[in-house]
Amino acid sequence: MGCKNCKIKPVIELTNNNIKLCKNCFLKYFERKAFKTISKYNLIEDNDIIGIAASGGKDSFAVLYLLNKLANKKKDIKIKVIAIDEGIKDYRNLDHLKNYCRENNLELHIYSFEDEFGMTLDKIKNKISLKPCSACGVLRRFLLNSKSKELNLNKIATGHNLDDEAQNVLMNLFRGNLERSARLGPITGIKRDKGFIPRIKPLYFLTEKEVAAYVFIKKFPVDFCECPNSSGSYRSEVRKIINDFEEKQKGTKHSIINSFVEELPMLKEKFKDSEIKSCEKCGEPCSSNICKACELIEDIKSKPLNKMS
Ligand code: SF4
Ligand SMILES: [Zn+2]
Ligand SMILES: [Zn+2]
Repeated sequence: MGCKNCKIKPVIELTNNNIKLCKNCFLKYFERKAFKTISKYNLIEDNDIIGIAASGGKDSFAVLYLLNKLANKKKDIKIKVIAIDEGIKDYRNLDHLKNYCRENNLELHIYSFEDEFGMTLDKIKNKISLKPCSACGVLRRFLLNSKSKELNLNKIATGHNLDDEAQNVLMNLFRGNLERSARLGPITGIKRDKGFIPRIKPLYFLTEKEVAAYVFIKKFPVDFCECPNSSGSYRSEVRKIINDFEEKQKGTKHSIINSFVEELPMLKEKFKDSEIKSCEKCGEPCSSNICKACELIEDIKSKPLNKMS
């Protein structure tokens, strides 16, 4: 069977409805869906200065391309690119991203764990009891938020896709952390707080498979290699559960997200009065007196470097 619209050879079958699309129809479908998410959830407003959180991976390249396209048309928004180099050997490589930004006149800001915390993630993970992904997430979120304020950004665009968000929803459910889920959605946060830069997710309703197909067709210089720390992480286990279910029951991922989006306003209402404090050490928003990043940095400094690192 050919493409649903023009009957020529399809390149992809959409998982939730068995619709097959050819290359051109798929590209149109993909971009229309991302731009529809932006307009439906009011992710971008006039005079926004948006930082695109880029890693050199497929999701962030797709967001970078789409928002650059939008910024070129809509002159009243500005975009900058912000990248974090965690210091993960044989994985994090920002060379393609640097070239892409140079060729497209995009302002790129790179911050490394080594410069900001005095040590790469490869060294940090040998000093802590936390899993590398937990430490990586805490420190990366801290840098993204604090550096975005220094750069006068009022939003951060991330490449989170439907698969990522389905994993987030289930992880929070398994851990009994509904308040954390209340902060999810196409635009993050429960209420606006000047200390917290909201994240916007234009790829929210697009699956990982669709994003991979899009960047492959567009020939973006994407690194497809996997982080050596990802196997055995909580997220990778939840990803496996969801993928196994999707295999048996097509549309599972879409069902998780569609029902989550429906209940999200109720969750936000339930937690709307939860207190946001400022960290006593760094001033970043947090739920207790000291933020998780400062706790972690303190912990790292207090321990000698493991001989193996
Ligand atoms: S897989 Fe874990 S350690 Fe690797 S980049 Fe992602 S969060 Fe960081
Ligand atoms: Zn077609
Ligand atoms: Zn702090």
